[in-house]
Amino acid sequence: MKIAVLFRNDLRLHDHPALMTAAQHGEILPIYVMEEGLGTAFRYWTHKNLLGLQKSLTEMGGTLYFSTQNLVKTIATIKEHVDAIYFHRSYHPDHFSRDAVLEKSHPNVRSFEGSLLLPPWKTTKENGDPYKVFSPFYKNARQKVVPAAVKAVQEATFAHITSIATVSSNIESLNLHPHHSWTDKIDVHWMAGEEEAIQQLKVFVHEKIARYKVARDFPIQHGSSELSPYLAVGALSVRSMYHYLLQQAESVAEPFIRQLFWREFAYHILFHFPKTLHSPLNPAFAHFPWQENAEHLTAWKKGETGIPLVDAGMKELWETGYMHNRVRMNVASYLTKHLLLDYRKGMAWFWDTLIDADIANNIFGWQWASGCGADAAPYFRIFNPYLQAEKFDSNGLYQKEWLPNSYEENPIVSHDAGRKRALLAYEEVKNRD
Ligand SMILES: Cc1cc2nc3c(=O)[nH]c(=O)nc-3n(C[C@H](O)[C@H](O)[C@H](O)COP(=O)(O)OP(=O)(O)OC[C@H]3O[C@@H](n4cnc5c(N)ncnc54)[C@H](O)[C@@H]3O)c2cc1C
Repeated sequence: MKIAVLFRNDLRLHDHPALMTAAQHGEILPIYVMEEGLGTAFRYWTHKNLLGLQKSLTEMGGTLYFSTQNLVKTIATIKEHVDAIYFHRSYHPDHFSRDAVLEKSHPNVRSFEGSLLLPPWKTTKENGDPYKVFSPFYKNARQKVVPAAVKAVQEATFAHITSIATVSSNIESLNLHPHHSWTDKIDVHWMAGEEEAIQQLKVFVHEKIARYKVARDFPIQHGSSELSPYLAVGALSVRSMYHYLLQQAESVAEPFIRQLFWREFAYHILFHFPKTLHSPLNPAFAHFPWQENAEHLTAWKKGETGIPLVDAGMKELWETGYMHNRVRMNVASYLTKHLLLDYRKGMAWFWDTLIDADIANNIFGWQWASGCGADAAPYFRIFNPYLQAEKFDSNGLYQKEWLPNSYEENPIVSHDAGRKRALLAYEEVKNRD
């Protein structure tokens, strides 16, 4: 039996149920499928990780093919050439129901869980309603049994095809690599691939996790795992990670595991409230008086707002394709509260520039920070970026690392003025609630 395995954000051989099942039942035809709408930095990161996967498959005697079309069109193109098609579910709202319809209408098309600890319908309240608050979600979901990870595929037989119009063995056909010098910067900061991802996980668990609870909030300490790029592209399986943590570091793992459940919660919200792909979860924000100000938006993107912590974060993002979580919260708060710019503008910038761009986490983070999402920061909680810097970067080393020597503090909107204006705007929404 010839089985096409369609790779998407699961660029690995370990804990890959679709690949493992195919390996047990026939010859595998591995094809990476590119969906529309990926951001520039993530496209490049995907390219780098695909090279790793390509190498691993080649070493086993296979060929990785690349499809320039989305999953539905790819299946239409290849179904004549294979007996079955396997892939992992995507919880992107534009994909999930589309793929489910396809699976129902083709008996030889089969989807598997490959990106979450538990599918979002397994973590609802007893009456089936979804959660909107993290703590009860976590309490419930944490008690569930997370299925064991599947062993890495080490041996398999492979099928090969001569190229068909939209499926080829040439990675360049995807055009993921922008061939621009900014990619050198990403290469300096990040090494791609499954092997590297597993190595980084081991280093984190054996050298850093015991201090995670304390160190994770201080950007200069690099105390968080910095594994999000590997999770986003699927070079690491979250399920393998979870079981490895419990096996190797159970007594100190809980604060970190809790963060993995924030990721689960973000997917839970996106799955049960698909409108959040484009709109605030809280309907009171439908007519929020967001300002239009192209100059402010550009200043924010370039790290030229005159607020040091915000600007340092935006420069870190531009240089590395990543930003520390504490700083993400601050730059998002400044954009949506002090500048009163629509959270979707910030979200789009993150989507284009983050190598860990993740559809659920990005939406969730932005809705949380702007106050319109699930379990969101209350509207009157407006981060003071100076106090935040004092608390989490007290010696200023993080800010010094990213700000140019010529940097001058000359805020486009000061904390006090921005705070007052935001409170008035947010007060209006509250009264509409
Ligand atoms: C405005 C905003 C936008 C964000 N956009 C993204 C995004 O596009 N992609 C992304 O992966 N994360 C996003 N986050 C969440 C968080 O900032 C990153 O997951 C985290 O900084 C990644 O670093 P780490 O791997 O060292 O995290 P660690 O602290 O080591 O956490 C381990 C893992 O848990 C998950 N996690 C941690 N914090 C969160 C959180 N707050 N929400 C959901 N999952 C979390 C991530 O998968 C992370 O890799 C965003 C947060 C904000 C405030």
